[in-house]
Amino acid sequence: MYRLLIALLCLPFLASTAPAQELHPQAYELAELRGDISPEEAEIALELMFRHIAYVLHHEVGHLLINELDLPVLGWEEDAADSLSTLLLIWGDSEDAFRTLDSAIYGWVLGHERGGMPGADRLADEHSLDLQRAYHSVCMMIGADAEIYTPIADKLNMPEARRQRCPGEFNRLQRSWDAVLEPHRRPEGQAESVVHAVWLDPDEDTAPYASLLRDEGLIDMAAAQLADAFHIPREVGLVGRNCGHPNAYYVPDYARVDLCYELAALSFHMFADDIVARRQQAAEARLPASAPAN
Ligand SMILES: [Zn+2]
Repeated sequence: MYRLLIALLCLPFLASTAPAQELHPQAYELAELRGDISPEEAEIALELMFRHIAYVLHHEVGHLLINELDLPVLGWEEDAADSLSTLLLIWGDSEDAFRTLDSAIYGWVLGHERGGMPGADRLADEHSLDLQRAYHSVCMMIGADAEIYTPIADKLNMPEARRQRCPGEFNRLQRSWDAVLEPHRRPEGQAESVVHAVWLDPDEDTAPYASLLRDEGLIDMAAAQLADAFHIPREVGLVGRNCGHPNAYYVPDYARVDLCYELAALSFHMFADDIVARRQQAAEARLPASAPAN
């Protein structure tokens, strides 16, 4: 259900990038590399990857703020980082927030579908389960603005009873974050915080993803917003790099967030795999029913 609707959501993006020669060069490169998707489908997967990674970066920025500003966390830090990142997005440009959160939720749905029944490892993990993270974020979104975000709640089949509680839950969360962030907002006239945006060289395998993230200025935009919005006592950095594994994390000893190019590659292929699966399902659904055996 979610899969079919996400395709519809992607249509405006496709329309805005047609004709074919306006696709990102990486779309042609990655379509050829995989061999099972068209450049147009690779462009959709790249857009989803970019938005998904943008959410991950916001989540890690949430960890950075919690630790650098020594914010109180009255619950699990992973859940707090999710709620802070969702809030930072909601407070920004609404179209941008919609697309970024929509891709994050699509990623969690795919993660849930691939993960199967959670065993002890996942239940004991500090992160909530993927679908729980999705529902909590959607609850914040419709609590903040039901008109904008209800289509995403509909795709997730968000139960009506929870929807009704979301405005109250969102208001409580927003007031709580406002209270702890307020002393750390940069006063007008005070120098901006120092937030370095650093792009380290990718290797051959991750170059297409790294170059797209860099061309679109993902880390640079986040660093500029962070420097402008908050007074952060020490210099901090947002770093795009190869890590040797697909992940992203805040590194307290070095006051920086590492965003691993391998995670962008993993994200791209996750969305591309789903696009292929959906295309195959749609083709099978169009096949005529076989004649009954005599
Ligand atoms: Zn985290």
